[in-house]
Amino acid sequence: MFPSSIKKLISELSKLPEIGPRAATRLVLHLLNRDQSELDNLSSVIKTLKSETQLCQQCFNLTEKDQNFCPICQDLKRDRQTVCLVENVLNIIPLEKTGYYHGLYHVLGGLISPGNGAGPEKLKIKELIERLKVAEPKIAEVIFALSPTTEGDTTTLYIERLLRPFKIKTSRLGRGLSVGSDLEYIDENTLTNALLSRK
Ligand SMILES: [Zn+2]
Repeated sequence: MFPSSIKKLISELSKLPEIGPRAATRLVLHLLNRDQSELDNLSSVIKTLKSETQLCQQCFNLTEKDQNFCPICQDLKRDRQTVCLVENVLNIIPLEKTGYYHGLYHVLGGLISPGNGAGPEKLKIKELIERLKVAEPKIAEVIFALSPTTEGDTTTLYIERLLRPFKIKTSRLGRGLSVGSDLEYIDENTLTNALLSRK
């Protein structure tokens, strides 16, 4: 019932996570009511999204294309001896919001999931080990802030074993996190408590 340009956009938007055909149709009809200049702006930021961003060379957070390091790694006020291990960039946001964590991060880019064929070689684990070897000042603590799921626990155990020879303190988020929950959806208070009670 729609012209082909509308159908094409609905089909593209429907491929996005958590957007079904219904939501995609609503979005497209909404876009039709916007000014042409707004649509031009939207399409140009989408077009340059990838070329304008890259991964931080130290922690693999996102950063500007002309910056080797992300704003967190560049911030000299942060505690450079503490590194918090997270699954993906999204997990940094709630940890930053707690206002309690002042160390650095290391983004793994996923979790080990043997069932889905996701082995450790796909994650930034080699890079973590390399980082621990060369970091100056030396890293004193690695906090595992991975989701309390089977994949999260498997990944934590795997990396903890690799870190043993370094004699670095390792800790995991503590109380308040229910088993199976995804860190992405945990509120700041729970996360602050989990950080404070890490063990
Ligand atoms: Zn960084």
